[in-house]
Amino acid sequence: MRVMLLGSPGVGKGTQAKFLCEQYHIPQISTGNILRAAIQSGSELGVMAKSYSDRGELVPDEVVCSIVKERLAETDCRTGFLLDGFPRTIPQAEALLTIGVILDYVVVLEAPIDEIVVRLTGRRFHLTSGRTYHVLFDQPKVPGLDDVTGEPLVQRDDDKEDVVRNRLQVYERQTAPLIDFYRQQAAKGKVNIAFVSGIGDIDEVKANILKILSK
Ligand code: ADP
Ligand code: ADP
Repeated sequence: MRVMLLGSPGVGKGTQAKFLCEQYHIPQISTGNILRAAIQSGSELGVMAKSYSDRGELVPDEVVCSIVKERLAETDCRTGFLLDGFPRTIPQAEALLTIGVILDYVVVLEAPIDEIVVRLTGRRFHLTSGRTYHVLFDQPKVPGLDDVTGEPLVQRDDDKEDVVRNRLQVYERQTAPLIDFYRQQAAKGKVNIAFVSGIGDIDEVKANILKILSK
């Protein structure tokens, strides 16, 4: 099972990725989580990534492509993987093809922009694990604390409304063209593409994705 989740920031990719990875016993490869870990560690990569993510801009293609290439070479990816937040530009998608990575499914999650803004601005994050919650739609058992570790949840700086607006523009400009890119790949029989509504309960969305992947 080699699957990629594609969709706007806040549509629910990370939330669904967690379920799918448990279901199929595959690793979640989230470039956002990898970059945030680097930022936390204060490494050279982290300092550089922060200068982009703080503004809601994308980190340069060469940087993320080499991170993903290394990650996909690890043994746990042999039987499959889930890409969450990568590729995010046409050059990134082309880089995947160049290194010979074949995807079975591209699942496009969709939701209207007003819903996206409410989701992103209400999102709360457990930084070390990447687990996400929402102040209204997906509350932790104890307000403000991670269910597993009991550690405090934070609001990501880039989930504040002004940065969110820029991220959504960046999505439209740089990432949304991937939908056509993968439609064309699908037309050539190279991948399956499926469109799933991201609206509705988290469990409902999950069931709809599982229905498609189990075909
Ligand atoms: P992405 O990884 O696509 O940026 P997330 O999975 O982090 O998105 O979801 C963004 C926010 O929306 C999180 O706070 C999450 O709890 C919430 N969320 C995810 N799916 C749904 C849903 N189906 N309905 C309501 N809120 C959702
Ligand atoms: P979301 O799913 O909410 O959009 P992510 O956690 O995937 O957010 O990404 C956060 C930030 O990390 C992005 O705004 C960007 O700066 C950087 N980033 C993550 N993935 C990529 C990628 N594939 N290419 C370039 N930058 C990325």
